[in-house]
Amino acid sequence: MSMNDFAVLSTGRKMPLVGLGTWKSEPGQVKQAVIWALQSGYRHIDCAPIYGNEPEIGEAFQEMMGPEKGIRREDVFVTSKLWNTKHHPDDVEPCSPKNLSYIVVVLNLNEFNSAVECKQQRNSSVASIKPTVLQVESHPYLAQVELLAHCRDRSLVMTAYSPLGSPDRAWKHPEEPVLLEEPAIAALAKKYNKTPAQIIIRWQTQRGVVTIPKSITESRIKENIQVFDFTLEPEEMNQVTAVHRGWRYIVPTITVDGKSVPRDAAHPHYPFNDPY
Ligand code: NAP
Repeated sequence: MSMNDFAVLSTGRKMPLVGLGTWKSEPGQVKQAVIWALQSGYRHIDCAPIYGNEPEIGEAFQEMMGPEKGIRREDVFVTSKLWNTKHHPDDVEPCSPKNLSYIVVVLNLNEFNSAVECKQQRNSSVASIKPTVLQVESHPYLAQVELLAHCRDRSLVMTAYSPLGSPDRAWKHPEEPVLLEEPAIAALAKKYNKTPAQIIIRWQTQRGVVTIPKSITESRIKENIQVFDFTLEPEEMNQVTAVHRGWRYIVPTITVDGKSVPRDAAHPHYPFNDPY
């Protein structure tokens, strides 16, 4: 990968623009997925204890990294995340990537803490650690243009989760728009002889947004990082941004009176009521 394939954090650390997502990658699948990713050039893995698969990811690291194995642990950027009930300092260490059995250097725990603090900062304007990364849902149907400008103004790097529209999420509904079938993106895919997923990932990387597409399929894992050999024209970047429709795929819901409604929507700090 070239130098352009990194976002530089305000700490000076480089964060690869394409990482492998691991939510919903089951034990029995995720180890092989991480091995394929590392073999394909990925140096950024997005994890969380809540995904229930970190021990297997640790096994993949153990197999692939080390003095005679070609990949150094310090070259791989590992993101982990604390669940909302784990904000007390005593809860941090058990949730850190040390759960990944082989992790001896926690590279980005601070970055992650910062991301958490950043969300707090949006609500309270108070943060004791300077944030460096904000991970939010983003894809062409949720372009996050204002939030990205807000992040840039504060030297924050934005990471886009569910960049392909999370087609394997459990609560998928047949009436929801299917991002990977968006005609404007299909037209660009045809022009560049790329797939819709590659156009979407390229669009994000070209605007400096880190993306973490999840896959357990070898061909897709390879495909999703093959995005640095073409460049979208400025007008084409705008065309992708223009398909925005404020659509969020990842909204926790509960059933009330037989109807599915957003969970906690009436809470004063419910984040999705904000314009961005
Ligand atoms: P996603 O990456 O948007 O989509 C994953 C789905 O797309 C899987 O079904 C995958 O299939 C399929 N896929 C992958 N590459 C493809 C390609 N080239 N062409 C067609 N289909 C392709 O969804 P996501 O898992 O929701 O989001 C990505 C990652 O973001 C997560 O895994 C997680 O690490 C992170 N995330 C973080 C948060 C948070 O709250 N911080 C929330 C959601 C997600 P196969 O696996 O079958 O190949």
